[in-house]
Amino acid sequence: MNDNAIPIKNGFFLWEGAEPKLLISKCKLCNTPAFPQTSYCPNCASDQVEVVQLGSRGKLRNFTKVRNMPPECRIAVPYGVGIAEFPEYNIRIMGLLTIHDLSKLRPGMEIKLVVGRVYEEQGQEVFTYKFQPVEEGI
Ligand SMILES: [Zn+2]
Repeated sequence: MNDNAIPIKNGFFLWEGAEPKLLISKCKLCNTPAFPQTSYCPNCASDQVEVVQLGSRGKLRNFTKVRNMPPECRIAVPYGVGIAEFPEYNIRIMGLLTIHDLSKLRPGMEIKLVVGRVYEEQGQEVFTYKFQPVEEGI
């Protein structure tokens, strides 16, 4: 990453090192995970939550292509979005897909987390986490 690279939001992911990791919060009382991380549990409202890292691999559960630019979104259309399930805490997280041709995707495929550029803002390149299919040739 160069000096002009910034994350789309602080606290979403770690991108130092070889494998980026998503950051979630987990309730110490009932183990409910949440993404983006919260300061209270969405299940039991406890403030006894801790931030934990997810592994970098998950399973794609569903996906679609966005063809019309949502309001205030700066990501060029079309782009793919997916919901991936991460096994450590059985949490499902929505994210951008690295590919545009979704015809070879199917639910249950393994994905890995990568960090990629999404747009430029005031001379800075904005990066976010994305889901990349692990299978060759996709
Ligand atoms: Zn809880």
